[in-house]
Amino acid sequence: MNKILISACLMGFNVRYDGSAKSLLHSTLTQWRSEGRVVTCCPELAAGFSTPRPPAEIIIGPTGSTLVQHGARIMERTGTDVTDLYILGAHLALRMAQLHHCRYALLADGSPSCGSETIYSGDFNGQTKPGMGFTAQILREQGIAVFSHRQVDQLVTSLRQDEE
Ligand code: SF4
Repeated sequence: MNKILISACLMGFNVRYDGSAKSLLHSTLTQWRSEGRVVTCCPELAAGFSTPRPPAEIIIGPTGSTLVQHGARIMERTGTDVTDLYILGAHLALRMAQLHHCRYALLADGSPSCGSETIYSGDFNGQTKPGMGFTAQILREQGIAVFSHRQVDQLVTSLRQDEE
């Protein structure tokens, strides 16, 4: 049975930067929890951030990329460079996924950690653009299939095919 790494905020924990949750009200999550499939993780709390914390966004690196291996950084709105802590959080999430043999992850989109389809622009203007957070990048590099919170149905299909 596949286990799934899931963003803690999607599971109802108040761990977002503003102290809120992003509870994903989907019956499948309740089922997965009862089956013991859910591995809950917040990369930012794992790295030592507190809640609440300043919002942070990915800033493109010298090559114009938002990828961590191409020098992208993460800055808080206050101007603090928190790149190293976000990288730490990504690796701790990967470690947790590996410990639990998770080959799938369901992550909250938009986050500089957990985003997998979109991230914020880097200008703190509320605009989004296609991209991945550092945790999604590192999980995918290691072969973990990452789905956003809008893709539960696709994840269900992948699991079903995998377990047939
Ligand atoms: S790091 Fe991920 S799990 Fe933690 S609050 Fe942000 S989106 Fe949710």
